[in-house]
Amino acid sequence: MNFHVMTLFPDMINAGMHHSITGRAMDKGLISVRAVDIRDYTHNKNRRVDDYPYGGGAGMVMQAQPVYDCYQDLKRQICGPHPVIYMSPQGRVFNQSIARELAQYEDVVLLCGHYEGIDERVLDMIVTDQISIGDFILTGGELPAMLIMDCVSRLIPGVLNNDVSADIESFQDNLLEYPQYTRPEEFMGRRVPEILLTGHHANIEKWRREQSIARTLQRRPDLLKQAKLTDAEMQFLSQRIQEHNGDE
Ligand code: SAM
Repeated sequence: MNFHVMTLFPDMINAGMHHSITGRAMDKGLISVRAVDIRDYTHNKNRRVDDYPYGGGAGMVMQAQPVYDCYQDLKRQICGPHPVIYMSPQGRVFNQSIARELAQYEDVVLLCGHYEGIDERVLDMIVTDQISIGDFILTGGELPAMLIMDCVSRLIPGVLNNDVSADIESFQDNLLEYPQYTRPEEFMGRRVPEILLTGHHANIEKWRREQSIARTLQRRPDLLKQAKLTDAEMQFLSQRIQEHNGDE
């Protein structure tokens, strides 16, 4: 999978992505991350990309022309269909299901804004989707782009050492992941739950599912509406809800 990032800060993208799992995925050729400097497409000697907003107001706005030309150049180098995603606090809020959607593409273009954003006309012309990473305002789209690339990369076969680990993480099935433990068995008087030491896989699996359900109820009850639970798990959930209501 190839990520093409249109940005004013390519060094930030390169520095952020060449580490750990994403770095290894690039070394193995499973993903590529290409940061394209929008400033290279300016036509003025100061390589200026921003100007004052029409109508007045605070801040500066990125101009349409360098962004447009940058994308036209990029487009010539991409063969297949690809989304052009503007990182924007006004977009749909990123989540695991959007990550799965993006993982289907061979090429994804991510456009990072800065200052007060980008001239709306070029957004209308080239952007196919807008994605936010949450209801807060950052300085630029680079961190959101890296967040999305990190998350999507984990879904590309071979990127994680163990292919199943992406399937059991939080938000798969709309449940949060169960608690995890590693050695030693006892840490400062706290023991690992005994069931995890039994080697009984079916019981461990059941315990983990129940932990996931209980944890989701406690921390993100909104997710449970979409979770696919068996009858036994529904019963477990009702019991937990009753206990929870009894505690109040
Ligand atoms: N004036 C814009 C507004 O109110 O919608 C915010 C501009 S913000 C300071 C500059 C850039 O950071 C945006 O163009 C966008 O690319 C990026 N950005 C900021 N917050 C973001 C968020 N929550 N999700 C995705 N991108 C964000």
